[in-house]
Amino acid sequence: MNYQSTRDSSLHVTSAVAIAQGISADGGLFIPSEIPQITMEELRSLADMSYKQRADVVFGKFLTDFTAEELDYCTSGAYNTKNFDSENIAELTGAFGDAHILELWHGPTCAFKDMALQILPYLLTTSLKKNGEDKEVVILVATSGDTGKAALEGFKDVPGTRIMVFYPDHGVSSMQKRQMATQEGQNVGVCALEGNFDDCQSGVKRIFTDAAVKEKLAQNGMMFSSANSINWGRLAPQIVYYVSAYVDLAKRGEIAFGDTVNVVVPTGNFGNILAAYYAKNMGVPIGKLICASNINNVLTDFINTGVYDRNRDFFATCSPSMDILISSNLERLLYILTGGDDAQIRDWFGKLAKDGKYEVTADVKAKLQQDFVGGFCDDADTKKTIHDFKEQYGYTCDTHTAVAVKVYRDYIAKTGDTTKTIIASTASPYKFSASVLEAIEGKAEGADEYAQVAHLAEVSGLPVPQSLAALKDKPVRFSEVIGKEQMEAYVLEKLGIKA
Ligand SMILES: *Cc1c(COP(=O)(O)O)cnc(C)c1O
Repeated sequence: MNYQSTRDSSLHVTSAVAIAQGISADGGLFIPSEIPQITMEELRSLADMSYKQRADVVFGKFLTDFTAEELDYCTSGAYNTKNFDSENIAELTGAFGDAHILELWHGPTCAFKDMALQILPYLLTTSLKKNGEDKEVVILVATSGDTGKAALEGFKDVPGTRIMVFYPDHGVSSMQKRQMATQEGQNVGVCALEGNFDDCQSGVKRIFTDAAVKEKLAQNGMMFSSANSINWGRLAPQIVYYVSAYVDLAKRGEIAFGDTVNVVVPTGNFGNILAAYYAKNMGVPIGKLICASNINNVLTDFINTGVYDRNRDFFATCSPSMDILISSNLERLLYILTGGDDAQIRDWFGKLAKDGKYEVTADVKAKLQQDFVGGFCDDADTKKTIHDFKEQYGYTCDTHTAVAVKVYRDYIAKTGDTTKTIIASTASPYKFSASVLEAIEGKAEGADEYAQVAHLAEVSGLPVPQSLAALKDKPVRFSEVIGKEQMEAYVLEKLGIKA
């Protein structure tokens, strides 16, 4: 299996090179040259395997340059009960009508990002070894709240790596901010940015692909890589849980092997739902991919019209991890839908950079609409959904998951579709206690987030994750706020490199 760049089809690298580099030098994203297949017989054979073993099977198809021993080292290091509070790693709950909720937040930072970021450091350090690379790796991360913490936990004190995280100062929940500000580890840095997530992401991408900066790092024995979902090492692990959830549904007798299921994903950067698209195209019987957005509904419009237009107001919502107007991973999908037309991708993404807007061809739009359904909901509906779902089923979901539930409900109201459905649940409600309590009780408790956490425990009956409870007594280590034009200087200074 080779990896190409979405902006240069002639490029052929191994998965180890793609993972180590994170992003291609031409600004494109690495993408496998074909989508490997999984047969129904193979899916059946996964039924009696652990999550870790299922991961070995899926990774074995994508990371063909890794040996079985290397994969085993990576998957056993990541998917165990030391890191996850569920034996199943990803917990499938329900049924709620025809829907099951796939809880992807049983890892150390209580968001679905752990599913990939617990294993990425293993994949990355193994890749470096395979590539004969001896440089220190500097991971730059742009986060809308959850990636940052998950990446910090994954990479803290991993030898040969350093990690720096940028988050929008006013764009994350207070629990998310506290998680990052109190981060432990000798090789970590956290910095707030005056700007939104897109500013963080653009800044990081610019630094990554700046030849002069790269040269300075090389002279100092360092190289950049990425822990954002532009890195294929983030995407591949996310495919596993869709394969695994399908197998679990069949194992429980909710479906028969071969039956179609729909998938609903609360979406921001389009990484999670793209992983579901890969699972579908590997041969997992997935029907509709329902892309749920909050009021920053650039993807809903795109799916409905074929026009991607980021020239619109940006809203800070109660589902902040989805407050994104430039969804990076869409580039991978469009590369696939154009049949690998790198010139077309360069044209569209050039327009996006220049005018903030592009329109896909009628053919690509038709293909897009064959698989994807787009929907969105605002904060009022998000909160109403949390309230109503709890009333109906006694289940408390976080704000992001609630967006998915609402968009799913709108979809079935409109279509009458009774296909069994997997709703991806991307965060623990405790990460967004204030909003969740406000939704359930019509008001939030005072300002102290730990009073809110305690109260949410009473209201929801869910155990408080140990990792969040422990933050209460940890000292704040990082409180710096910089302007977006200062990012490059900040990075070089922290690395001890003269600008
Ligand atoms: C990152 C995140 C999302 C969006 O996922 P993408 O892969 O960026 O689409 C949704 N919900 C939560 C809680 C997240 O942390």
